[in-house]
Amino acid sequence: EEPDEDFSEQAELSDYKLLNKIGEGAFSRVFRATPQRDTSKAFLTRNFSEVAVKVISKKHLTSQKDSKSKATSKEQVLKEVAIHKAVSSSKNIVTFVDFQETQNYYFIVQELLAGGEIFGEIVRLTYFSEDLSRHVIKQLALAVKDMHSQGIVHRDIKPENLLFERIEHIPSSQPKLRKSDDPKTKQDEGVFRPGVGGGGIGVVKLADFGLSKQIYSTNTKTPCGTVGYTAPEVVKDERYSMQVDMWGIGCVLYTVLCGFPPFYDERVDVLTEKISRGEYTFLRPWWDEISDGAKYAVRKLLEVDPEKRYDIDEFLADPWLNQYDCLRQQTL
Ligand code: ADP
Ligand code: MG
Repeated sequence: EEPDEDFSEQAELSDYKLLNKIGEGAFSRVFRATPQRDTSKAFLTRNFSEVAVKVISKKHLTSQKDSKSKATSKEQVLKEVAIHKAVSSSKNIVTFVDFQETQNYYFIVQELLAGGEIFGEIVRLTYFSEDLSRHVIKQLALAVKDMHSQGIVHRDIKPENLLFERIEHIPSSQPKLRKSDDPKTKQDEGVFRPGVGGGGIGVVKLADFGLSKQIYSTNTKTPCGTVGYTAPEVVKDERYSMQVDMWGIGCVLYTVLCGFPPFYDERVDVLTEKISRGEYTFLRPWWDEISDGAKYAVRKLLEVDPEKRYDIDEFLADPWLNQYDCLRQQTL
């Protein structure tokens, strides 16, 4: 992919040379870039040889008052940066490197995760084995744990916002994951054959804090704002709002295990209705070979009542999530 037609981003950006475009979101374009040795924060503080630069054009920004508009606002960009900085030290969160505001752009410089989106791996492999699913979801859960313990909710957990580093698998220690007579085993070969398709999934990190929100203050662990006069539904709302990430983890877990999402309909109103009732099934034949332990974890995450739904500590203690992880053993 070529950089922008006129490439005016590069003219305004200091210390980094933009290379190819590697991603795109609703309001942003993301480029692979190289830090300049002498001046860039990436090189001085981290020794990164490559970075990812998220470019947000001010042209598409609106004032926050224009809340019905789909466009993002300056306040939102600054909030995204503040939250990204706050959670950046987590092992399973994309490291924040640098931020620049210029006349026409915001630039958020981050560690590059060269593997790209987990979404792309689902497309490539059709679906993941249970071991590979566990390997990915465990790291997602650790990222969410680090956010929630700081009172921050991500609110946009999906395979597009989960990035990874590729590793080569050690061929001799590859487990056989599904019955060899299953036509679906093709994809497992894809996962484990070293050197084919560029290897497997190593470190997984959560990205994109564009919708993230601070719910509890970091020091006091109490809700933001004055507590004494707060209505019970507001207190509950704040407690439950962390649970949206658990639903998101449930959707990602379901999707990696079978290759399609738990809720889908082309008509948005029908889809919304299905979600609000929690209407999903373990569709045959795709779910036939998936273990009861994995299904139990999905059920506890895709629980409509946020109070009954797994919270992050409960999920981290889930038996299926804590089964022996042969992939993690080799890679981390
Ligand atoms: P948006 O808020 O517009 O969704 P994201 O931060 O999610 O923007 O970035 C859009 C896409 O760019 C991601 O889905 C991913 O494909 C790619 N991307 C973003 N950050 C990185 C990164 N650090 N390393 C590699 N790819 C990235
Ligand atoms: Mg995104």
